[in-house]
Amino acid sequence: MKQVIGIVFGGKSGEHDVSLMSASNVIDVMDKSKYDVVKIGISRTGEWMMYNGDTKRIAADTWQQDEKNLIKGFSIFDHPIIKNVDVFFPILHGPNGEDGTVQGLFKLLGKPFVGCGVLASSVGMDKVYSKILFEHAGIPIGDYTSLQRGDWKTSEEDSIVEIEKKLQYPFFVKPANMGSSVGISKVHNRQEAIEGIKEAFKYDSKLILEKAINCREVECAVLGNESPIASILGEIVPSQEFYDYKAKYIDGDKSALIIPANLDESTTQQIREYAVKAFKCVNGRGLSRVDFFVDKDTGDVLINEINTLPGFTNISMYPKLWEATGISYVELIERIISLAIDEFNS
Ligand code: ADP
Ligand code: MG
Ligand code: MG
Repeated sequence: MKQVIGIVFGGKSGEHDVSLMSASNVIDVMDKSKYDVVKIGISRTGEWMMYNGDTKRIAADTWQQDEKNLIKGFSIFDHPIIKNVDVFFPILHGPNGEDGTVQGLFKLLGKPFVGCGVLASSVGMDKVYSKILFEHAGIPIGDYTSLQRGDWKTSEEDSIVEIEKKLQYPFFVKPANMGSSVGISKVHNRQEAIEGIKEAFKYDSKLILEKAINCREVECAVLGNESPIASILGEIVPSQEFYDYKAKYIDGDKSALIIPANLDESTTQQIREYAVKAFKCVNGRGLSRVDFFVDKDTGDVLINEINTLPGFTNISMYPKLWEATGISYVELIERIISLAIDEFNS
């Protein structure tokens, strides 16, 4: 019996384009003798549609013009094609995709779905809550503080003085819930800090401010449910001062991915151990990519963040790390689908 996989792609998010690339790569390589694919697209404005046309049009972002192959205005709870889906596979990034919202919908639909559940997804998306959990689990984190929009509005002057007491310049200002480096800036003085804070508040009502680490960036892929495994490590060498949106997606080919990362054995093992610990402490399921900083000055390892739905194109770090560890892209997709079913039945 073939399994029906509902691939959900696109989304009302800054990472819409990455999602289209990931989804079309995944659909292309899935073994059609094992799986039937239902393509469920979400437009940039948040409209859900089923798409029955050529997958190439997803990558080219012209699928929404292919009107005759679109089904719109259906109820996700009642449509027979949706009811027939065996496993949902969200290939969405950022808010409304990676943050537990869509995972909650799959739960309400009573179907298995790929990846982390509601709690792990929302905690993983929130850089403040995830840091609290990492620290609690004994994983080293850098110095940080958080800032609520309400407190900032009441007194910018008091807030900035408080922040300066806790962090020295330069530091990073980030929306607490975001991805793809959207809304993030590295600030070197009070004026830049005020600008960075105002910019970041456009994306979230809560910010995280972090001491800037002079670091190498190392990533580890995690796979599994209750007994997850860690991949070999990869290093990112950004083309810009930090791995900002431009370095990730516009000049992507200028940033280097080095696999395996050139680190000594004990640092490597330490990071792999922390990656599994991080996955477990947020109650991760299926897959996550856990990102670390290795301080260039001290050699210390600090966790940066967990990404519960990492980029999944055939050249993204997550699949490449597994490929280098011995699990091919095709096999990886099959594994995360079967992990979703295991989790549902457990
Ligand atoms: P996102 O979830 O958007 O990827 P990150 O927290 O990973 O956000 O920040 C994006 C990039 O900014 C990182 O990959 C790194 O290059 C840089 N960066 C973020 N925080 C720090 C920090 N505390 N010290 C040094 N670089 C940082
Ligand atoms: Mg992230
Ligand atoms: Mg990141």
